[in-house]
Amino acid sequence: MTPGEASAPGRAWNAGGPLVLVGPSGAGKTTIAKRLVRSRPTQFVLSVSATTRAPRAGERNGREYQFVSQSEFEAMIEGRWLAEWARVHGCYYGTPLRNLTADRCGGRTPVLDIDVQGARQVAERVQGAIQVFVLPPGPEQWLRRLTRRGTETPEEIARRLRTSLAELDAAASFERVVVNRELDQAVADVLAAAGSAIAGSAVAAAVKSLCRRLRDGARTEIVRLQTATAAAPASGAGT
Ligand code: 5GP
Repeated sequence: MTPGEASAPGRAWNAGGPLVLVGPSGAGKTTIAKRLVRSRPTQFVLSVSATTRAPRAGERNGREYQFVSQSEFEAMIEGRWLAEWARVHGCYYGTPLRNLTADRCGGRTPVLDIDVQGARQVAERVQGAIQVFVLPPGPEQWLRRLTRRGTETPEEIARRLRTSLAELDAAASFERVVVNRELDQAVADVLAAAGSAIAGSAVAAAVKSLCRRLRDGARTEIVRLQTATAAAPASGAGT
């Protein structure tokens, strides 16, 4: 395949298979991806997604995301410039195909931090993709991580938790699952899981039980947030 073919719209191509990190919002995928790339810059490269979500404070266009308008994103879909895309928490997110090309990666493995819908598309379309599902270690730590950022309103956090319920249902279908208790260990576990031929059916029962606890925690928090929001005096924000 020539470089020209490799970057042609609509054609999924990869240099040895991307590493795909999947999991609910707040599991720590982005932090793991960044640490992986920072610690092994000659081996991994971050795939910067396109999104219609507004930038958070401190985020820079082209670094965390390529921030685009809805019409720009729809033109990317139409032009078949995306390897995968999905609507997540009410916004569009997608992986530009060029992030997976040899030109862009220069022999390194692209690391994708995407949602379950996108991961399914990558599994179908991109040869050799390795998917690792990342879970938070428990509901308390998860909810702390989700709220610590301080960038989402209670309504947005509740929305992310609702989306997470479906993501957690999908965890059992992934062969490689890593529980993110501590960053360095999680990075090592991702590398080990990615390198293993098939993964941990032995941990399936523990993973299912953790997912159950996370779902219960998410449901309780959603109710708490809804009750708190309903009880709060209207501020006019977010309308
Ligand atoms: P956030 O808004 O917190 O940065 O990301 C929200 C969710 O969108 C996360 O679960 C993240 O993994 C997912 N996401 C980020 N980029 C992409 C992408 O390119 N494609 C898909 N399908 N999901 C993405």
